[in-house]
Amino acid sequence: ALNAQWAEAWLRECARVLAEHRTELIELDRAIGDADHGENMHRGFSAVLTKLDDGGQETPAAALKLAAMTLMSTVGGAAGPLYGTAFLRAATALGDEREVGASGVVGFLTAARDGVVARGKAEPGDKTMVDAWTPAVEAAGTAEAAGATAAEALKAAANAAQAGAAGTEPLIARKGRASYLGERSAGHRDPGAVSTALILQAAADIAE
Ligand code: ADP
Ligand code: MG
Ligand code: MG
Repeated sequence: ALNAQWAEAWLRECARVLAEHRTELIELDRAIGDADHGENMHRGFSAVLTKLDDGGQETPAAALKLAAMTLMSTVGGAAGPLYGTAFLRAATALGDEREVGASGVVGFLTAARDGVVARGKAEPGDKTMVDAWTPAVEAAGTAEAAGATAAEALKAAANAAQAGAAGTEPLIARKGRASYLGERSAGHRDPGAVSTALILQAAADIAE
């Protein structure tokens, strides 16, 4: 069940996976940015781990809100406020639900994506994390409409985010630091799209 324990386990899995992919994200950001995305995300989710150790969260929303606040104050750069907003909007969408169903998955992913867009004003195709979030939202919606379980909807979202992140490679960045490179930003995956895919994959893996 996608309950508070799932949300906490998801955040812990994010910390593990982002530690594992720290160097990869640094190298992606070195190519088209300032080589700090892996460090930023690792620092942020390490801090989330410490906060989770302080005590049990009663609802999925409480765990995601704790993550939001921690990410906003520790990640820095462009990604901190974007992920902070994503997790905060996701928490708000979940309200006081104790168990998230398939429609809840679609709801919180949509809210997270909308938060990223509200904050960063990027459109699909701008070579940002929106290019992972948006296909994830669409895939979860399609899966839910076809009768998928919450875990299946998350799996569909994770797969679509992964494909979306891979699809950023040929794009020319129009938002964020990478946009300063213009056409030279093509030929590299966007680090934030890759971290979003990792975060959503973690959610799906933990839901199984
Ligand atoms: P910084 O660019 O400040 O060093 P990070 O390296 O941590 O911050 O994060 C960079 C990532 O943030 C990019 O790969 C991209 O996915 C995301 N990003 C940057 N600007 C925007 C934006 N306006 N909208 C959505 N995502 C953005
Ligand atoms: Mg950077
Ligand atoms: Mg930076």
